[in-house]
Amino acid sequence: MIVTIKCGRVLMSLIKCENVTLSYEKNIVMQDLSFSLEKGEYLCIVGENGSGKSTLVKAILGLIPVTEGKIEFSDGLVRKKIAYLPQQNSGMKNFPASVREVVMSGFLSEKKFFSFYTSEERRKAEDIMKKLGIYSEASRSFCELSGGQQQRVLLARALTKDMSLLLIDEPTAGLDPIVTSEFYEIIKSINSEGVAVVMITHDIPAAIRYASCILHLHNRPLFFGSTSDYLKTETGRRYSGV
Ligand code: ADP
Repeated sequence: MIVTIKCGRVLMSLIKCENVTLSYEKNIVMQDLSFSLEKGEYLCIVGENGSGKSTLVKAILGLIPVTEGKIEFSDGLVRKKIAYLPQQNSGMKNFPASVREVVMSGFLSEKKFFSFYTSEERRKAEDIMKKLGIYSEASRSFCELSGGQQQRVLLARALTKDMSLLLIDEPTAGLDPIVTSEFYEIIKSINSEGVAVVMITHDIPAAIRYASCILHLHNRPLFFGSTSDYLKTETGRRYSGV
């Protein structure tokens, strides 16, 4: 069990990453990375293109091995309980299914064999669609929706999981400012219900506004800690423009 003592409180880390090196073949893309994520926290991973953010996400999801060091899960977190919202790719935009079908497909990963959806799953999908403001679109074709609505549908699909961590990769790329801020508010409300959030983003002002902690990467950690401490550092001030 991983236990951290912070401000006199004993916390159990959901994820603890210790002295991690990540590489593709012999090319090292991340070195000496240590950080932890506590229950209910909101971590933003920031850094320039090529700084290793997506590679770290792949390692957390177990899609690539860790070259050195270790990534441990605790406090009931197992990889199956990570809800993952990947970057939207253009192929997904033309997905030929209704909104309801796309959301319900989130349950398929939990099923060993093809079987019909249960009434509990249907009810859960409806509750999530209502919460994300897309229930009125349930019968519409996914490909007719705006980029912002499509992103909500994909988030709804990710939320069908029984999860304790929501991992999101660049969720607002290509969205306009109003839709972007609505999307951030949705993520914040999910976090307020106790779900830990890890979000990769280039939007440092939004990271500062919403995240409780920041991990700034440049093929090694430039900073890991609370958002308020980030703003006291040279890196934080330079990138946030504060
Ligand atoms: P970021 O998400 O911060 O933009 P990435 O994690 O995608 O960065 O990439 C980090 C580095 O790893 C880059 O130099 C990239 O070219 C390299 N890289 C990413 N994916 C692969 C891959 N599948 N094979 C080899 N190199 C890769």
